[in-house]
Amino acid sequence: MSLVDQLSRPLHDLRVSVTDRCNFRCVYCMPREVFGRDFVFAERDQLLTFEEIARLASSFAKLGVQKIRLTGGEPLIRRNIERLIEMLSKIEGIHDLTLTTNGSLLTREKARALKNAGLNRISVSLDSLDDEEFRRINDVDVPVSKVLDAIDAAHDAGLNPVKIDVVVIRGRNDRTFVDIARHFRNSGKIVRVIEYMDVGNTNGWQMKDVVSGAESRDLIAREWQLVPVDPNYFGEVAQRWRYADGAGEIGIITSVTQPFCGSCTRVRLSAEGELYTCLFAGKGRDLRGLLRGGANDDEITNAIASTWRVRNDRYSEIRSEATLGLKKVEMSHIGG
Ligand code: SAM
Repeated sequence: MSLVDQLSRPLHDLRVSVTDRCNFRCVYCMPREVFGRDFVFAERDQLLTFEEIARLASSFAKLGVQKIRLTGGEPLIRRNIERLIEMLSKIEGIHDLTLTTNGSLLTREKARALKNAGLNRISVSLDSLDDEEFRRINDVDVPVSKVLDAIDAAHDAGLNPVKIDVVVIRGRNDRTFVDIARHFRNSGKIVRVIEYMDVGNTNGWQMKDVVSGAESRDLIAREWQLVPVDPNYFGEVAQRWRYADGAGEIGIITSVTQPFCGSCTRVRLSAEGELYTCLFAGKGRDLRGLLRGGANDDEITNAIASTWRVRNDRYSEIRSEATLGLKKVEMSHIGG
């Protein structure tokens, strides 16, 4: 019998954060005031090793996971990530292996190495094409040209379709994100417009900062007619639209205004081996302790299955003033 949670949701996707560190200090994700010099990141021996991640991934695959996304922090900071990709790509049942990056370390050579190791696709985060605005957002002075080069490198290496993830925030990039859609029309790359979410407790999120997916879509549709497209599979987070003139496709991700908890098939593993069944959870289940305590494969698989079976979270559907104050894991800890 297939594994489902309390709300009959199957387990299909695993997101693995390979590090809690990032070389960007995006003002809405890892603000410098919080993640500054004094911030204590995980020590090396606290991070799961590649062997530990691969072992857990095999257990997840046995339970129905078919897709793995590597994230962070910034996943390309983790040295030799290709070695992990190679290990994961050999696991039976894993059909889709992808990675989310800020692109700053994605050279042509790196993109080719990732592809050769077995990575299928890549998503690159990019919130503005305006160089000044982009530098203000990443807060470490990385120019936008670097990320644009990375996107081309990924495309040329065959990590397709490359997705460009854009978080739209009122008063920051809500007037300029349509330029990103324009830039990537006719390129084969897919821009995905993401609502700003109340993840973590450090970014000072307020509902008034959220630009709804509907508003973002309308702003794009003012320029080019859009036609809805059916989802690729159950649980796909992005609503798909294509340009009527054939210039390609975009995605709209509305986790705040139109939550999709009912079809959430995702589980997340932090860099330190905690298992989270929700992006907005306050606490995870420690799998590293099990691994390092000598648990065998069946015990590990059972621990994961029992966590999934009792899962009943649906934070985005019950989001309210009352839930906003709950303690939640930071995005940099479990990735997007
Ligand atoms: N460093 C990698 C990157 O930049 O893609 C991976 C980790 S980053 C946390 C993953 C994604 O989460 C990025 O696209 C980022 O913009 C997004 N993100 C961070 N905080 C967010 C928030 N509050 N709401 C929506 N997306 C957010």
